[in-house]
Amino acid sequence: MNDWPFRTIIEPFRIKAVEAIPILSRAERLAALERAGHNLFKLPAEAVTVDLLTDSGTGAMSARQWAALMIGDESYAGSRSFVRFEETVRRLSGMAHIFPVHQGRAAERIVARTVLGPGREVLNNTHFDTTRANVEQSGAVATDIPVAHAGDPANRSAFKGDMDLAALDKALAERRDKIAIVMLTLTNNAVGGQPVSMANIEAVSRRCRAVGIPFWIDAARFAENAWFIHAREPGWENVALPDIARRMFDLADGFTLSAKKDGIAHIGGILGTRDPAWAEKFKNELILGEGFPTYGGLAGRDLECVAVGLEEALDPEYLRYRARSVAYLCDKLDNIGIPVVQPPGGHAVFIDAARFLPHVPVDAFPGQAVACALYEEGGVRSVEIGSFMFPGSKLQLVRLALPRRVYTQAHVDYVAEVAARVRDRAASLRGYRIVESPPFLRHFSATLAPL
Ligand SMILES: *Cc1c(COP(=O)(O)O)cnc(C)c1O
Repeated sequence: MNDWPFRTIIEPFRIKAVEAIPILSRAERLAALERAGHNLFKLPAEAVTVDLLTDSGTGAMSARQWAALMIGDESYAGSRSFVRFEETVRRLSGMAHIFPVHQGRAAERIVARTVLGPGREVLNNTHFDTTRANVEQSGAVATDIPVAHAGDPANRSAFKGDMDLAALDKALAERRDKIAIVMLTLTNNAVGGQPVSMANIEAVSRRCRAVGIPFWIDAARFAENAWFIHAREPGWENVALPDIARRMFDLADGFTLSAKKDGIAHIGGILGTRDPAWAEKFKNELILGEGFPTYGGLAGRDLECVAVGLEEALDPEYLRYRARSVAYLCDKLDNIGIPVVQPPGGHAVFIDAARFLPHVPVDAFPGQAVACALYEEGGVRSVEIGSFMFPGSKLQLVRLALPRRVYTQAHVDYVAEVAARVRDRAASLRGYRIVESPPFLRHFSATLAPL
């Protein structure tokens, strides 16, 4: 890894293809917001100037990825692209049995349908929502055991994604026979993309191996997690990023992975395991729902893109820039007096809307008020993660997720300027009420009205 004596961390790429972004008038934005029922998920992308809704599947592919796409082998069975994909993922993870799937939740569903079920339990630092849904759909119980300070936006610990080891010990002592899998989500998305330390991964792995319970990782952001271990954990500063990643996988018995995150692909996922008996079950379920094991719900060209993306995601220059972009936006908002969750995580910045809009009660969705104002002010699309998305949620957050390699520093400066304008009229922002709502996952389709 090269040292970098400059204060400016540059985008470690230049731009070869460009895509125009829509720039609307305030009146047009207001009309679009009205038509969308004040629900940003219902905005057409054509009406969004800077889209920070998610980092999932929204990254920019590299020239190498686009080139790899052209040499994709679309043979039904035994495709050359699968061989390349399998080689890459085996090298990354050290696991023998590798299955492509169409996205991360397909891997979760296969695991849930084959090795979970009623009476079983999965422990996780925090289940991502699709993971939880798949575990529960099988009849099993999904238990979250994050460290206590994970939920405190002001706590600046380096590894707020860690699992609570005392809670793990207690669960293993009390109901060892019930627990089917212990899982670590890297990084811990649901608590703000906060990383998990190698010490914690080692400790969880050791405990699981001692009692013979499979230890798995949700590796959606394995590369960002490896970067934080390199940057923040003593003893790892001189270890190469692929070696850090490999150590994380070596401690586990299997993994699920959404390639739409650190695979820097537009679609794709992976299921991997060392266990030949589980692999056999997965293969049968895969054929039922996804496709033949050498393509698993993807095209050959997708396998090529994922293989290249997984390697590029571990480039230290890329990860330095990636972590810096998120921290840069976080610092900017902090400096202009907007309350944010600290420290910045790996893929997004979170505004603490409860502190930002203390006059808006939780049942009037302060996060939604901030998200709508960011759109109205400058066409910036974010997402509320609070009592609108999760009724009863303790935290009222607005997430600004940064797609990989898509926006430049000027875009980020623009977002901060838009946020400053929202701050200037924060005291006048009003909450929202729900006009119409489906029975579940209401944040995707509910309609709201300002109070
Ligand atoms: C996105 C994500 C998933 C699910 O992956 P999809 O590709 O969206 O199905 C699972 N776990 C984590 C941590 C994620 O971020």
